[in-house]
Amino acid sequence: MPEHEQALRDEVKVWIERKYSMDFNTYQKTAKTTAIYPATHKILYPALGLAGEAGEVANKVKKLVRDGTSSLPKEWKEQIGSEIGDVLWYCAVLADDLGISLGKIASENEIKLQGRKKRGMISGSGDSR
Ligand SMILES: [Mg+2]
Repeated sequence: MPEHEQALRDEVKVWIERKYSMDFNTYQKTAKTTAIYPATHKILYPALGLAGEAGEVANKVKKLVRDGTSSLPKEWKEQIGSEIGDVLWYCAVLADDLGISLGKIASENEIKLQGRKKRGMISGSGDSR
């Protein structure tokens, strides 16, 4: 492959990696720009939306369990991924309404889970494991 073609391919690869990766706080900032609901319903609106979208994910997975993949459209994974994206949007907006950065939530959750893993407490139940 000619050197200039490889350089172009490398540049495209970097562009695609950047396009499909985003830090949580950047995502939260962009999510806020599309959050249109009355200020009187902060917290409540995104919390209800989060529950609804989580239900959409669960419903698609339920159909997968019931019918298998044969009766689903070939883009069924992308459809579930899209619903996960809707969940993420509501998480970002709810966190913003609470004054918490999504990056902080992700980081603290990761620390919590790694701590549980170190202590052999991944399985089981309870918030304070
Ligand atoms: Mg949805």
